[in-house]
Amino acid sequence: MSENRINNPKGKLGQLLCRHKHTNWYQPQTKFFHLQGETHHLVCEDCGKVLDKRFVRYSED
Ligand SMILES: [Zn+2]
Repeated sequence: MSENRINNPKGKLGQLLCRHKHTNWYQPQTKFFHLQGETHHLVCEDCGKVLDKRFVRYSED
């Protein structure tokens, strides 16, 4: 359900026309706890499209 937290106000057509200038990294809530790290999503705040994903490892210090 947490995926629905990110709105998509413009729909697919908006995503096609959008230049994705306002992006932000989000950390989606998952029901599985990762010991090694967590996955972050780069989301366009204008159209809601997920542009990139990265896995961030927790520091082992
Ligand atoms: Zn966009």
